[in-house]
This record gives sequence, structure tokens and C-alpha cells, in this order.
Amino acid sequence: MPFFTVDAELPGRRGRTGVIHTPHGDIQTPAFIAVGTKATVKAVLPETMRELGAQAVLANAYHLYLQPGPDIVDEAGGLGAFMNWPGPTFTDSGGFQVLSLGAGFRKVLSMDANRVQADDVIAEGKQRLARVDDDGVTFISHLDGSTHRFTPEVSMQIQHKIGADIIFAFDELTTLVNTRGYQEDSVARTQAWAVRCLTEHRRLTAARPERPSQALFGVVQGAQYEDLRRQASRDLAGIVDAEGRGFDGYGIGGALEKQNLATIVGWCTEELPDDKPRHLLGISEPDDLFAAVAAGADTFDCVSPSRVARNAAVYSPTGRFNITGARYRRDFTPIDADCDCYTCGHYTRAYLHHLFKAKEILSATLCTIHNERFVIRLVDQIRASIGAGEFDELRDHVLGQYYGHSTRAQ
Ligand SMILES: [Zn+2]
Repeated sequence: MPFFTVDAELPGRRGRTGVIHTPHGDIQTPAFIAVGTKATVKAVLPETMRELGAQAVLANAYHLYLQPGPDIVDEAGGLGAFMNWPGPTFTDSGGFQVLSLGAGFRKVLSMDANRVQADDVIAEGKQRLARVDDDGVTFISHLDGSTHRFTPEVSMQIQHKIGADIIFAFDELTTLVNTRGYQEDSVARTQAWAVRCLTEHRRLTAARPERPSQALFGVVQGAQYEDLRRQASRDLAGIVDAEGRGFDGYGIGGALEKQNLATIVGWCTEELPDDKPRHLLGISEPDDLFAAVAAGADTFDCVSPSRVARNAAVYSPTGRFNITGARYRRDFTPIDADCDCYTCGHYTRAYLHHLFKAKEILSATLCTIHNERFVIRLVDQIRASIGAGEFDELRDHVLGQYYGHSTRAQ
């Protein structure tokens, strides 16, 4: 069976529906991949994630490398067995965390591109904790200050021990304020690392043939530059091993401004092979989801639904709102009367408001369930709309409701 099959296409655009086949089950695409950074979706049981429709979980190689260490995940039987998640798993390469935590970048997606361009990009008040050279990255652990080094080979060795179904090539994260010259050097470095990742991935796969096979995705960088993104995509697509086999899929990474997201994803997907899946790192807002799917992204992950849930922000069809607002103290309706999640079926806004005010940890569990369900269900609806030829109608309806109300919520 091929790793990826395409079912329906969005006429005139790059979007499509399909199925990714992994040793731990299929992923119907487009799919939202829930983030379980440290081998847990914070505050929620794996069984609950399954019930609310999560198809796969993405953990982070950097965090699991530092704690508990890849050897322990390997001895447990791999990521899925370790965390009691029977379905498909992803790990991202650690490149983003090594550089974003290490260098103290400001949040990449919200960075001010009008700032003076600079190659030594450090957030105010942060210390530089990571250094990039052509061979890899040396960084200081954010946990205990110890020094570590990631190279493409080390990232592959870590991700093989963690054992996720889909893993990513080690790439260099740049920011929108790096100079054009630096972006060119960085793309060249990421391409060279991609070749080394594929070679090491094949070596490690051959060394342990009894293990479930892992799929390796190359990562497209190039920031906001069309020529760099297109060239990086073509170059990655052209990287093959001695048997002529290339990457199993592609990740679109790096600095993306919200208003350019669809354009940049489109440049990449026009150059990448159509028979391989494409993952977009780090989106979950409804307008971004529609734009990314139309531009040809098949899967995406984001930590936001669970992160904002722990801060009392919940999604609703008419926008996101904060359940700690005074108006919800005596509101005995669910977060969203039309939501089919466990939280909306059993709990009121007044109760959730109370849990947050009383600092009860159940607040995080119940709001995470709702937010994850909201985003997963929306992507399920987007997928169904492509098959039914109703993508534009769904987009106009959902976004009109979500962004049309300036005061948000009821
Ligand atoms: Zn709900």
C-alpha cells in the first residue's frame, strides 16, 4: 500500500483529501494533529483524545531528548507504547525548539517584520543559548543549563529511538528579521542537512528491520522569499537515496506571516510532488486552517487549542472568548450548544468559570477537551466539504460567523 493516497481535489486550487497510511493506523487528511509535546496532551487522557476525534499526536524530539531521554522511550517500545496512544504519532525534529528556546527568539509568527533586519536575532532580556554552524547546532538546555549538540545524524538517532510513525528532517529555524543573505545560507544549510538526514534515516532503518517503519519528511525553509521557497521545495523533492527513494512527505516550516500564509504554502505545494503529503507546522486559527487547506497543506499541528484552554480561552462558532469573564458567572449554558464534546454535553459556563476562579485543575481538562474537539471537528468538516464540493460555502459560513461578531461570544 502506498504511504499516501489522494481521494478528492479542490477544483482550481491545491487542496485535496487523502489518506496517510502508517503502521499505527490511517490518517484521513486534511487532519489536525494534536500536540503532545512531552508525550502527553496536557491535562487529557489518550482515550479522551481518541473519543474527541484526534487521529494522531505530535511530540517533540528536543523535549523528549532532554527528558526522559530517547533511550527510555525506546525501551518502553516507542512513543505510542510509552504514552499509551495506540494511533499514529509524529515527532518534530527539535530544530525549532533548539533555536527558538536556545536563542530566545520572539514568537516567530508574531514577529515584527518591519524591524531592522539583523542576523543576530535575540529577544530582549534573553541570553543567546544556541549557535549554528554548518555541521549542526550547539545549545544550552533550558532545563538545567547543560550543553548539548544536535546534528542531522543526532536528530535522526533521537527520532528513531522515540519511534514515531512520521519524523522530520533537522532544519534551521530562521526569523523574518534575518537578512536575505542569511536566509540563503540557511536554506543551503538545511538542504545539506536534509541529505544527511535521509542517509542516516536509511542506515538506522536498515539496522533495526524488525521495528515499524518510520516515514521521513523533509522541511522547506526560505522565509518570505518566493524564489528561496520554490528552489528549496524543488531541491528537497530531488533528494533521493541510492535506490532512488526520496522523502516520504514534506514539512513547510519557518517564519510565516499570517497574511502571507496561503501564498507561501502555495509556492511550496506547486513545486512539491503531488503524491506526497505536506505538513504545515503550527497553525490552528479557523481562517488559517481554510487558507492552508486550500493552498495544499494535508496536515497541521498547533499547541494553541490546549495552551489557550489552560488560560480559560475557549473557541465557539462566534469567536474565542474567556470563560472567566464576569458575565459567565451565572451562565448555565454550555460553551457551545451545538458542540458534541463531553464538556459541552455535561458542564455549564458557570461551572467552568467557577473552576478557573477556584484554580481547580479540572478546568484545564474540560476546556482542553472542548478546544481540541472544536478544531478537530472543524477540520473534519473542511475535509467533508472538499469531497462534497462545498468548501467555499463552508469557509464563508464558518469565517463569517467566527470573525463577523466584534464582541465575540453571546
Ligand atoms: Zn464542546
